[in-house]
Amino acid sequence: MAKPTRIESGIDFDKDGKQIGWLGLPHSVTRSAYGRIMIPIACVRNGAGPTAFFMAGNHGDEYEGQIALVKLIRALEPGEIKGRVIVLPAANLPAALDSARVSPIDDGNLNRCFPGDPDGSVTQQIAYYIDTKLFPRADLFHDLHSGGSSLDYVPFASMHEGADEALNRKCRDALVAFAPENALVWKLGHDIRYSPAAAMRRGVASLGGEFGGTGSVNRPALAQVERGLRRLLVHLGIAEKPKAWAQAAMPRRLSVPGQDWFVYAPEPGLFEPATDLGENVRKGQLCGHVHFVDNPARAPVPCHFKEDGMVVCKRHFGRVERGDCVAHLAVDEKW
Ligand SMILES: [Zn+2]
Repeated sequence: MAKPTRIESGIDFDKDGKQIGWLGLPHSVTRSAYGRIMIPIACVRNGAGPTAFFMAGNHGDEYEGQIALVKLIRALEPGEIKGRVIVLPAANLPAALDSARVSPIDDGNLNRCFPGDPDGSVTQQIAYYIDTKLFPRADLFHDLHSGGSSLDYVPFASMHEGADEALNRKCRDALVAFAPENALVWKLGHDIRYSPAAAMRRGVASLGGEFGGTGSVNRPALAQVERGLRRLLVHLGIAEKPKAWAQAAMPRRLSVPGQDWFVYAPEPGLFEPATDLGENVRKGQLCGHVHFVDNPARAPVPCHFKEDGMVVCKRHFGRVERGDCVAHLAVDEKW
């Protein structure tokens, strides 16, 4: 038997209609001895049918998904669906309200906290609730990310490949149905601490995506997310296809084969990038230089790409510490 969660849900997930409420996470502090952190959640249900679970604000400084999901909550009506849509637009609410990747309460990175702990820190308790209460109700999970404050991305929807080939196929079908311009497959191993891996461990088809970054809102990527979520509802049979919809083009398929496609700052200093997002680079090509403004006589230290590929991710902040990711690549793949 799973341990009980301390989080109280103000939502009845089996009730028809549209409910917009909160998950109450007990949090006792000086200004509020018996207080709760109120995490917004919505459930739109109309009879039996599949369940889509959409989540954003896993990282608080990634905004396209958060905006798309609050818009979806306000727009979606039970009469236009069959089945259920569960929406968690600011999963790590303390981080979202702080515009930060991690929670200001416990420094918790929700996407490194699965499967969570009901007796753990605030962020671990949120992960546990999602893992034990929301994943088991879902047929498809989509966790919407971006590069956050420190990174910028060529926008893409994504999936992680796991050991279960039937489940991988479900994820691929959903990824194509989302119809992003770029569809990326992560091949970095299946770290259970990440939400998609945790969902897939429970047999739930799972998508992710990086829809911009730099702590800003990428307008074209936001439009892709809004369109894509609607397409996923049609794909699952939850919503009907509008008559006016054109057939979506097959997305470009990219993959990140491993850690060698990442480049890290070799020294602390100011990083001068030598490439732009979307640029194709070759193994050995210059990625950038670290400069030392406190010691101008010191020659800048270069770093280089270790593989061929397209620059899909770049560091946004100019100042780097040794070990900061400054860029990573993806490679084209056939469907
Ligand atoms: Zn993220």
